[in-house]
Amino acid sequence: MPDPNGFLRYDRRLPARRPVPVRISDWREVYPPAGEELIREQATRCMDCGIPFCHDGCPLGNRIPDWNDLVRTGNWDAAVESLHATNNFPEFTGRLCPAPCEAACVLGLGGQQPVTIKQVEVEIADAAVARDGLRPRPASAPTGRSVAVVGSGPAGLAAAQQLARAGHTVTVYERDDAIGGLLRYGIPDFKLEKQHIDKRLAQLTAEGVRFRTGVDVGVDVTAEQLRAEHDAVLLACGALQGRDTPETPGRALRGVHQAMAHLVAANRVVAAAGNGRPALATLPDGTPIDAAGKHVVIIGGGDTAADCLGVAHRQGAAGVHQLDLYPQPPTERDAARDPWPTWPWLLRNYPAHEEGGERVFAVAVQEFVDDGTGQVRAVRIAEVTVEKVDGRRIVTPLPGSEREIPADLVLLAIGFEGTEQQPLLAQFGVTRNARGAVDARPDWQAADGVFVAGDMHRGASLIVWAIAEGRAAAAAIHAYLGGVGELPAPVDPARQPLAAR
Ligand SMILES: Cc1cc2nc3c(=O)[nH]c(=O)nc-3n(C[C@H](O)[C@H](O)[C@H](O)COP(=O)(O)OP(=O)(O)OC[C@H]3O[C@@H](n4cnc5c(N)ncnc54)[C@H](O)[C@@H]3O)c2cc1C
Ligand code: SF4
Repeated sequence: MPDPNGFLRYDRRLPARRPVPVRISDWREVYPPAGEELIREQATRCMDCGIPFCHDGCPLGNRIPDWNDLVRTGNWDAAVESLHATNNFPEFTGRLCPAPCEAACVLGLGGQQPVTIKQVEVEIADAAVARDGLRPRPASAPTGRSVAVVGSGPAGLAAAQQLARAGHTVTVYERDDAIGGLLRYGIPDFKLEKQHIDKRLAQLTAEGVRFRTGVDVGVDVTAEQLRAEHDAVLLACGALQGRDTPETPGRALRGVHQAMAHLVAANRVVAAAGNGRPALATLPDGTPIDAAGKHVVIIGGGDTAADCLGVAHRQGAAGVHQLDLYPQPPTERDAARDPWPTWPWLLRNYPAHEEGGERVFAVAVQEFVDDGTGQVRAVRIAEVTVEKVDGRRIVTPLPGSEREIPADLVLLAIGFEGTEQQPLLAQFGVTRNARGAVDARPDWQAADGVFVAGDMHRGASLIVWAIAEGRAAAAAIHAYLGGVGELPAPVDPARQPLAAR
């Protein structure tokens, strides 16, 4: 029986973030552990609703009220079991998810602050590591069937773990030099220290999953070879085709880059400092992977842009501007536009925004300005209005509003255009749709015996969706291989986030 007055007795509280001057001098995570007292207090705020809308907000169907109550009563072992029943990697989502479950929490309906679901999740996840070091759960008997998973992001890893635990022989192929997908080199350490990935990989390895890094499927090994060696293939190659702006004058100048080029390289430098591998010192055009002393302009308003901001400050940027095409969102939910329990359009302040920099809304770059040597020295921006006409975005500059912002380094974080066009697609007989994603039939197959999941299927999305799709695709593969019983399938390929429109 939950505490019916918990939310009346306690306000929503998160652990204090590490002080800005301290945290920007290193790459460690921003949040320290919350401590048992705080987290049990916060779990007490959960009402154990008759209809827990937090479930509908989460594509994994996490049993949120159950584990809130188990934490409240100090029953940590059972909380760990309950959380892992629906989520392979709560240490990733607990740290990184934007928490659609919290936007859907019933407390938000009555003007109260939602339960700190995500923080409770991460504390349970870390308790699991502390208690038994993520005890492996190998299958009791092998099925003799074999699956290739292409791509080692959260979708591929979740599917691999589900399939290995069901007794199938699973090999994960990854073209990068390390496993983890965007978690490894896309997302900086101050959001996710890589020890969390490594601990999970040790568990997957002990459960029988084989990893082959440095293998670009479609190039180093053909689809035909993979199909000959395995009974089914799962494609989980992500949506890594960065959007660009080739029509903007000056795009070819030195110092103007895709954000991911800088971010991935910068994260590799951090990784190299940790394990002794040689650091990459410059980008292909000779630009140092370092914002030290530079005026940095980041174009875009999402996760990638915020991650670039945090990296720039840790590298010692002289100043950072973050430009957004759209007007500044409201700070409170607009119930007419995004009624509870849907995900609201809100001004999102990431910890990186607390660390400095200036956000400029409703502006578009008109030109990257040359310093006379082929190196960018400024961006010329104009204030704009943005309208949707027949589904097309029309951006109109306001006459006389142009101005320059100094820039030595410009990072384009303006989104992704789906999965990359690469040889693997034609070899497996799959194509990109108009959004650049690969469609799946209701049983997750994109071609006979070839399944697809994660960002590659959904388009650039979230870790929680990647895990949900990886689990569901694993269930479909298990059925396709004639496996005994059913694996959990939290979503179907057509499932969309909660929306009012
Ligand atoms: C900078 C950044 C920050 C983000 N921050 C967050 C966040 O805070 N919270 C959140 O929920 N989401 C965040 N996201 C989104 C999230 O990372 C993705 O939705 C998620 O990683 C998708 O998982 P995935 O397994 O589908 O693909 P990915 O993680 O993209 O992994 C795909 C893998 O496939 C590999 N691959 C591709 N082609 C081949 C091939 N031919 N052969 C072998 N391997 C191949 C790639 O190398 C890659 O490792 C962020 C994204 C970015 C870019
Ligand atoms: S909606 Fe909020 S209060 Fe209700 S069960 Fe879920 S977390 Fe608890």
